Amino acid sequence: LVQRLRPFGTTIFAEMSALAVAHDAVNLGQGFPDTDGPASMLAAAQRAIAEGHNQYPPGIGVPELRTAVSRHQRDHYGLDYDPDTEVLITVGATEAIAGAVVGLVEPGREVVMIEPYYDSYAATVAMACGVRRTVPLIADDDGFRLDRDRLADAFGPATSVILVNSPHNPTGTVLSDDDLAEIARLCVEHDVIAVTDEVYEHLLFDGRPHHPLATFPGMRERTLRISSAAKTFNCTGWKVGWISGPAELVAAARAAKQFMSYVGSGPLQPAVAQALDTEMAWVAGSSAALQTKRDMLSAALSEAGFGVHRSEATYFVCADPRPLGFDDGEAFCRMLPERIGVAAVPVSVFVDDVEPWRHLVRFAFAKRDEVIAEAAQRLRRL
Ligand code: PMP
Ligand code: GLN
Repeated sequence: LVQRLRPFGTTIFAEMSALAVAHDAVNLGQGFPDTDGPASMLAAAQRAIAEGHNQYPPGIGVPELRTAVSRHQRDHYGLDYDPDTEVLITVGATEAIAGAVVGLVEPGREVVMIEPYYDSYAATVAMACGVRRTVPLIADDDGFRLDRDRLADAFGPATSVILVNSPHNPTGTVLSDDDLAEIARLCVEHDVIAVTDEVYEHLLFDGRPHHPLATFPGMRERTLRISSAAKTFNCTGWKVGWISGPAELVAAARAAKQFMSYVGSGPLQPAVAQALDTEMAWVAGSSAALQTKRDMLSAALSEAGFGVHRSEATYFVCADPRPLGFDDGEAFCRMLPERIGVAAVPVSVFVDDVEPWRHLVRFAFAKRDEVIAEAAQRLRRL
């Protein structure tokens, strides 16, 4: 393995899921739901296969999905993208991130990212021979907020791109409008491109709205917005994602993406298009159910003796096992499946500066209620 990829041997999700299987544990590690998406979407995919849509789709994605992605953003956020030149369908958000970074970042230039960061960000920047600059979230009451001083310090002449993930994995934080406005101001001042990972855009709780960075002043023309069907429609295995942005930036991502996978998910694309057009009520119900699951798991963790951080969105809640006598999250997560039959992931694998995060552990609550109840029971054995 080349040196620059050596730090990224095996993803933590593969490692912890294998431990969960080995010990027959309730897997609250890897973030995927254990129920299916809307029945009409599954049926549409089956129909597409039966009707022979089984060859390469167009390189930029099938027209009905590009149109649905465009319409969706106009309806939800008032953002207008031309489906022919400003939308690109990708193999999940993961390939969208990779296409954007590889297509936009010159070797040695810097990519700013919020720490903790989704694990593919660091590996992807390394593949592009870019340099990552991390800006930490800091604990605030029971939640997290951006360190604005560190944010401003991270921008300079070498900055090429900022990767912004809100709602944020792994903490479940929604960046405030003030934080987003400050990111926008810095991007404009330093002529930096924003790549926004908004895969949890529909999974916010307690009535919080989602505000895409692209809607802030000066940002439409310098933002590549990324989302995916995975979390919106409970189909993480389908790997249907998309990028929207100004034609020139989308073209850069497309130039890289076409030699990563060329295309993917042919018969699934029309099914996702249909779901975007007709199943947003299903999504609202799914999000409301997730909020209840967040409450269930947060209460269970708290009763088991963890310190529990506020989760405002996503599939995840972060917990502090130090009150239970564990101060190393990684060691804790390696021990947990065997000890009590529950799997989680340590937050420290998503950071460069380990110390402030060493103790913290992420639990996924996108599971059936009875699975969360079983996990709750097992957590009491700690
Ligand atoms: N970004 C974040 C923040 C994620 O949590 C995930 C996992 N859904 C991805 C990107 C990858 O998305 P996809 O499965 O669509 O590639
Ligand atoms: N996005 C999911 C998570 O954070 C799973 C990602 C993966 O398995 N690579 O858990």
